Amino acid sequence: MPEIIELIFSDLSAQFLSPRKRLFIGYLACAFCIAVLWVCVINRTSLKKGLVMIFAPAVWLSRSSLFDVFCFAINRVFFSFLRPALFTHLTIATIVYQLLHLQVLMPIGALDYVNYWVATSTFTLVYFIFDDFSRFGVHYLMHRIPLLWEFHKFHHSAETLTPLTVTRTHPVEGIIFLLRTVSVQGVTIALFVGLFGSKVDLLTIYGVSVLGMVFHSLGSNLRHSHIAIRYPVAVEKIFISPAQHQLHHSRDPQHFDRNFGVVLAIWDRLIGSFHPSIDKEIRFGLTKSDADFTKSIWSMYLTPFINLFRLLGRLKIHAPKGFERVK
Ligand SMILES: [Zn+2]
Ligand SMILES: [Zn+2]
Repeated sequence: MPEIIELIFSDLSAQFLSPRKRLFIGYLACAFCIAVLWVCVINRTSLKKGLVMIFAPAVWLSRSSLFDVFCFAINRVFFSFLRPALFTHLTIATIVYQLLHLQVLMPIGALDYVNYWVATSTFTLVYFIFDDFSRFGVHYLMHRIPLLWEFHKFHHSAETLTPLTVTRTHPVEGIIFLLRTVSVQGVTIALFVGLFGSKVDLLTIYGVSVLGMVFHSLGSNLRHSHIAIRYPVAVEKIFISPAQHQLHHSRDPQHFDRNFGVVLAIWDRLIGSFHPSIDKEIRFGLTKSDADFTKSIWSMYLTPFINLFRLLGRLKIHAPKGFERVK
């Protein structure tokens, strides 16, 4: 028993102390500085008023934010129990690597004469783009497939956004995204080791991907906040701004299914779901028809399963011709 408590405690502390995690205190400090710059310097608000706005009690002490804290704690405990039972990222990456090389008979190190820095920079960039595309793709499916939307509603049920809202996801969605991560790692490592041999490496600082660190240092935590930082439209067509992700959380039907992207906006532009940020206050959350979803913490965790069984019950399974039941 003390072992599991130790595991939960180390997992919880890692969420804020490891630069691999989005909620790392260093990234939160960067987000705070950017928010102060945006509110006080760009929008010309006094420092006192700016700080009151950033730490608005109506946001941070709302029922929705309190639910975020409970969900964060429940999810961390759940994943602390589950993680030892799951394959590690490296194990799955190795399995995918072996499968690709054994099944496709890909030669190892076909381009191993290429300079180390060229190989490593290319790998870092391709991994970042593939990772971003796969996040976009899975997020798109979570909205478009009714069975998956039942679980993704959990994230969209937030009515106020704080950096902790990023962790407000149903464990089923957490598992789907975990499988996405290991698959992307496995495929990219397999392809690049196939091309460049063992010299390929990820550009890292203290073991953290450089590009991921840049993204988080530039205020990724403000995507889930009430500070609507907007970029010029030309920039928003390339990189998703915090205000664009806030629009993704809008309860207004005209904003539904917009801005699925994480870092790059090009994927949304390719499928027509791109929407620039708007200079208007946005109300977050689900529509009235889902008002019961946030009745309690437990309804948030259980309703997706109840709705899943209802949806499955509505699916009509037709017997193939010749197999109809004899009257
Ligand atoms: Zn979404
Ligand atoms: Zn979100």
